Amino acid sequence: MIKAFKYTFFLILIFLMGFFLIFNFSPNFKKTVQLKLVNQIDDIASNRISSNPNAKGSVAAEFINIPIEVRKIAPDIMQITGVGNTHVIKTSEGDVMFDTGLSIQAAKQISALSKVYPEVNVSHVILSHSHADHTGGFKFWFKDGMQIITHVEFEEEQRYLKELETYLWNRNRTLFPWMPETPPKLDLLLTGGVKPTLLVDNNAPYKFTKGGMDFEIYALSGAEGSDNLVLWLPQRRILFSGDFFGPLFPQFPNIFTMRGEKIRKPFEYIKSLQKIIDLDPIMIIPSHKEPIDNKFFIDEGLRKILGATQHVHNETIKGMNNGQTVEELMRTVKLPTELSISQEHGKVSWAVKSIWEYYSTWFHFDKTTELYAVPQSDVYTDLLGIIDTVEMQKLIQIYIDRSEFLKALHLIEIVLADNDYQGPVLDFENVVLKELLKQANNTTKNSYEIYWLNHKLTNNQARLEAQ
Ligand SMILES: [Zn+2]
Repeated sequence: MIKAFKYTFFLILIFLMGFFLIFNFSPNFKKTVQLKLVNQIDDIASNRISSNPNAKGSVAAEFINIPIEVRKIAPDIMQITGVGNTHVIKTSEGDVMFDTGLSIQAAKQISALSKVYPEVNVSHVILSHSHADHTGGFKFWFKDGMQIITHVEFEEEQRYLKELETYLWNRNRTLFPWMPETPPKLDLLLTGGVKPTLLVDNNAPYKFTKGGMDFEIYALSGAEGSDNLVLWLPQRRILFSGDFFGPLFPQFPNIFTMRGEKIRKPFEYIKSLQKIIDLDPIMIIPSHKEPIDNKFFIDEGLRKILGATQHVHNETIKGMNNGQTVEELMRTVKLPTELSISQEHGKVSWAVKSIWEYYSTWFHFDKTTELYAVPQSDVYTDLLGIIDTVEMQKLIQIYIDRSEFLKALHLIEIVLADNDYQGPVLDFENVVLKELLKQANNTTKNSYEIYWLNHKLTNNQARLEAQ
């Protein structure tokens, strides 16, 4: 009996050692296993988003449902679709890749390309910026000897995004509640770790020719971070824009995002956009969604984005010089009708605040308490102890009746600072949040504003159910 057990144990040991050796010394086998695993994780993640009622109708749900397939834009230009598109430009001397999509979709993107173009041989990988939906798939495409081209600021952006991963994950999860509770632990899915071999700065493009095709890479900071670059094919007048324009074209830019990333430089964005206009593209291939090849639409779109951003920038500066407060400017700076443009991604009033704080930083030169570490909310509960809460509720109702929803919300937030509060003010807050949601849906449709308001409504629901 013991002998049989020892024999079985010995066989298992040999099998495990063999598996270990093959896994470690056969890169192809290792890669195949990794891709299978990633494929399964993607299936789970896609189901999680598609079946989550909070995700319904959201941009994220729309993106995760995009079928992964190869779109032939020209005989030598392929776009592998997904949440983040991956691109392969074929030349007689090897291939150039622009962006590498999301890690969990890498297996499906690689498989889709291999069916159409099995002999792919990438010598250069160009990464438009460090966000995970553009660099996540990199490690699956990577081969020794590849030229890895990024903006000179790429590593710094990658560093801070990695160091603040937990903080940013929690913020993103508030807005996108279908995300898993913690960042992935699996090495394969971790963000960061990309080591560029060639850096491009804002002073001059990096140019090379391969198989008769000219490639020009421009560092254009200011859009989705300071490390944005774009690829320009001068012979074709095609621009690979990465995330320069965000998920829609044309739309007002996210000067800097309420999700909580590093400040972006508004004027740098304007200069970068002017550079794109000077290139005069006849086709824009973004790393999200479809290529745009209508020249009139491109020219009109670029003109409007530039005009709208310049207008908001200049009006904010004018207002600052005139002594107007940031809130006054957030209320009054509007886009003229001829520059009216989608605000689903970036919102004009938030851009005003971003520009104001970019130039003026954190001290608004108003309340002395702003200089110190005791917030106003620290006295709210004491205040509630001395005021007549019935009168307070009446005042909230008056503001709501007058459609002064934000004044009502200020009072509501004072009452709700008391975490144990149970009463009608929670219902008042729901009325205001639903009104703000209705306004957002009827006007800008700004996705971040809608995510936030839904998050607050869901929280209130939980608080009401707990009563
Ligand atoms: Zn992106």
